[in-house]
Parts: sequence; structure tokens; C-alpha cells
Amino acid sequence: MAEMQATNFIEQIVNEDLTNQKVTAVQTRFPPEPNGYLHIGHVKSMLVNFGTALKYNGKCNLFFDDTNPSKEKTEFVNAIRKDIEWVGYSWTKEVYASDFFEKIYEYAEQLIQMGKAFVCDLTAEEISALRGTLKEPGKESPYRNRSVEENLQLFREMRAGKYPDGAKCLRAKIDMASPNINLRDPVIYRILRSTHHRTGDAWCIYPMYDYAHPICDYLQGVTHSLCTLEFEDHRPLYDWVGITLGFNPKPRQIEFARLNITNTVMSKRYLKKLVEQNLVHGWDDPRMPTVAGLRNRGIPPKALLDFCEAAGICKADSICEQSYLEHFIRDNLNANAERAMVVVDPLKLTITNYEGEEEVEFTVNPTQENSPVRTVPFGKHIYIEKGDFALVPPPKYNRLKLGGYVRLKGAYIVQCDDIIKDENGEVVEVLCHYIPESRSNNDTSGIKVKGTIHWVSADRAVDCTVKNYSYLLNDAAYDGQDFDERMNLNSETVIEGAKAEPYLLTAEDGKQFQLLRTAYYKKCTDSGKLCLSFIVSMKDSYKK
Ligand code: ATP
Ligand code: MG
Repeated sequence: MAEMQATNFIEQIVNEDLTNQKVTAVQTRFPPEPNGYLHIGHVKSMLVNFGTALKYNGKCNLFFDDTNPSKEKTEFVNAIRKDIEWVGYSWTKEVYASDFFEKIYEYAEQLIQMGKAFVCDLTAEEISALRGTLKEPGKESPYRNRSVEENLQLFREMRAGKYPDGAKCLRAKIDMASPNINLRDPVIYRILRSTHHRTGDAWCIYPMYDYAHPICDYLQGVTHSLCTLEFEDHRPLYDWVGITLGFNPKPRQIEFARLNITNTVMSKRYLKKLVEQNLVHGWDDPRMPTVAGLRNRGIPPKALLDFCEAAGICKADSICEQSYLEHFIRDNLNANAERAMVVVDPLKLTITNYEGEEEVEFTVNPTQENSPVRTVPFGKHIYIEKGDFALVPPPKYNRLKLGGYVRLKGAYIVQCDDIIKDENGEVVEVLCHYIPESRSNNDTSGIKVKGTIHWVSADRAVDCTVKNYSYLLNDAAYDGQDFDERMNLNSETVIEGAKAEPYLLTAEDGKQFQLLRTAYYKKCTDSGKLCLSFIVSMKDSYKK
């Protein structure tokens, strides 16, 4: 294969392995545990695993790491498949750790035969008490020197269901004095009566991840096993399994930094807590950093991939600002989303010298050359934002004020003549006259106005609900910490009584819009009613 230009350290290693003919083709795998929904960190993992395989014209499997039956469900398997497809990747084969349970078991017997594994009767607590610390070596189990025959018999009896859960386990016999605690005779099989989502009750012993993973990689023909940094300390065990069992060619584990983002929770186990504690409406809540949540939010997958690519594949842990992600979403939507007008907090405006109704032209997306144009109904009565009129305007106020002019986007210039107040003294209607010669694209009025505001026809507008979102967590710290105290309990606000132009009613559900001068929103229908759900703000707060 002709050498590829490496764009990150993983590709550099792959290049070397190809050059040295350690491998002839590239095989990777994307390895989620089906114990929850995928999140944006997994998009980075997909980019690394599927992306590297694609670059080298290799293969990437979808590998379900299902060695933990009590936490795994078919619901999650299906959600994971759907999410990967939505991100835009396809896998060579769909493979499960459970496909290999028999083979993994045989390898364990082989380790026993080699004197490299033993059945231990210590409890989990006793094992951890003897494990030692970073400074002190561990102590050997009193069961460590059982004979091969005894170990084999006990292990077979474990499989046959002779012992209760936790009564025994199988441990690799490595080195209780190793500076790497993972090598201090790690447990490789446990007894656990738990119905597995695929193998049912066929097994009452299950292999541990660290032992099963290198075997599954090898059996799939994985050449480069790409995972996150928390597995770096596990690599010596990964290698021990491969070397001891004589894997050839032995898969190579390479670790890269996790994607971390401010003001949100990332790991599946924590996201699950949010769902279970009803702190969000489910895995696909638009505030969630899950792939399902991001999709439901209306974020294009391309924006996620561009973001992960820009965040970079490297070896050192770091944390990305949420505003950096938003930057990519906004860029994408600015280029692709249609524009529309919605008045979130309506104030009535009557054009006293206008009669009848007409359609004015509206550019669908002004960033696109030859953007299509559609029409918007205009009439005597319209709504503008309350915030676009000021009775006591601050200095440099370019919106509407008594006696002032403003352009109504795509329509005419109006001048404010009068107001109507209610019994509380609040302005409930503004009265204007329009300048007939000032129609957009054909303005011969000669009047220069500083402000352009959005509006909707009062007679033709449709009522809608606006849902706004902010960050799930109040502070910027990320993951791994207790988030209960840090939850932003006002991360969702619902506004009723907004007025949308009628086009939004007919637009496709799920479609993204830039609501002029407001923000990017996704159209949805909530109990038969038009609803606009916040995607991202208009202003870029990301500092390059
Ligand atoms: P759990 O909390 O259950 O461990 P997880 O979020 O770590 O969940 P896994 O199913 O363990 O998810 O991860 C599947 C793959 O995705 C692993 O290879 C893991 O290294 C990678 N991955 C997980 N989180 C991230 C992240 N934030 N950035 C990049 N890769 C990640
Ligand atoms: Mg994990």
C-alpha cells in the first residue's frame, strides 16, 4: 500500500506498521458496551476507529462489548446502531463479545493448562485487601499454587453452576509485586447468575473485560485496537493475554485522549443517572450530549464530525469549551438552514394607512448564491417583538420609538406615530404609517433607516411554543465528579404565545431554521401544536 500522509499520531503508528509489514491491511473496531446511549465522545471514537479504517481502505467492525450482563440491554444495542448510522458510518461486521464466549472459555482452560491461571476462593473484598498499593506489593492468594488438575476441575464446576455467585473466581497468575496493579493476578472470570441479553442463562460465569477484550480483538483480526487513555494502564495486561496465548499477529492497543466538554456530563454511567433521576426527559432530551439528544436537538451530524476533527486526536487529555462545539453547529446551520420569522414576545403594530394584504419576498438563505426566494404574507396588522419598541429609548436605539423609523424585514419602512396603553400603563399596540415607495428591493423613498426588525402578519400568524435550552451544568468542570450540586435546574424554559409565520406550519418536522434576529431552532410538533426548539444561539462567543 502506498504510504498515506499521517494527520495524527495513530496514523503515524499505522504507517510504521504497514511499512515494517507488521500488518498488511488495517482492521479496527468501534467497541461500545450496550449499557446506555452513545454520546458525543463516542463520535470522536467513531471518527478515530471508522475514520482510520476508511483512510487505509481497511475494515471497522461494530463490536458490542457485552461481558456485563446485568447492565446490558437490546434497547441499547438498537439505539447504538441507529446512532452510528445517523453519524454516517457503516461497519464491516457486527460482532459481540458474547459471540466468542465459548472461545474465551477455551482460552481460559488453556491458561490453566499452562499454569497461568488459578481458581481463587477469596472474596472480592479479600482480593482487594491483598492487592497492595502503588507503593507496596500485593500478597499472594493462598489458592495460588493449586495444581493444574484441581484448577481445571474447579473451573469446569464453576461453569457447571456448582458454586454460588462470588464464591470463586478465576485469576491470571502474573505477578503480585508488579508495579502495575492490573498485573497483580487480575480476576479474569467471575461467577454471576444474570440473564444475558443474547446468551440468556447459558452461562453463569462471565469473563472480565480486560481478559476478554484482547481475545475478541484477535478473533476479529483487529490490527489496531484504538481506545481512550483510561485503558493505558491496562495495556500491559492486554499484551500479557496476547503474548501468553501466542496471538499472531497480536493486535496493538493504542490510546488517545477522551473528548471532554465543559458544562455537561459525558460518561454513559453518569448520563444514565440523569435519565433515571428524571433530571432530563430521557436519553434523547435535546440538552443531553448523547447522539440521540444531539439529533433531537437538530444538530447536523457533519457539525459534530467537524468539531471532533478540529478538537484533534492526540495523546494528552484536555477539555473543550462548549462554545467551541457551538461554533461548528452555528457555522453549519448558517450555511444550510432556511431563514424564517417568529415573534417570541409579540406586540401588536397597526399600519394605519395600509389596507388589504400582499405577499412580500423573503430570501431563504442569503449566504447561498442563487438562494431561492419565498413569500411571506404582509398586512395592516402585524406583530413585532416587544423588545423592538421603546417608549424611553436608550441612546443609539435603532429600533422603533415614537416618531422613529424602522424597516420591516423584506417589506416597508414604517414610522411610529402613536401608542395605545392598557389600564396598567403598558404599551399594548403601536400605531405607524408606512412609506409606500420603500418596498424592499424597490425602495425609492430616499429615507435612510438604521434598524431592520422582523415581524409576522397578525392575521396569518400561527401560535407556537418556543422551547429554550441552556447548559445542564452550572459550572464548567466536566465529568467524573458528582454533578448533583452543579445541575442547572433551569436549563429548559418553555414560552407560550409566540407568533410564527404560517410557512412554519407546513415545513417538515425536524427542519432547522434561523429565526431572524433570534437564534437557530428546530421545528417540531408537540401534541399537534407548532413548537420551535432551541438549537444554538446566533452570536459566536468562541474566542479563537
Ligand atoms: P461507561 O461509562 O459505560 O464506561 P463510556 O462513555 O466510557 O461508558 P464505552 O462504551 O466504555 O463508553 O466506550 C466505547 C468506546 O468509546 C471506548 O473505546 C471508549 O474508549 C470510547 N469513548 C468513550 N468515551 C469517550 C470520549 N469521551 N471521547 C472519546 N472516546 C470515548
Ligand atoms: Mg468506558
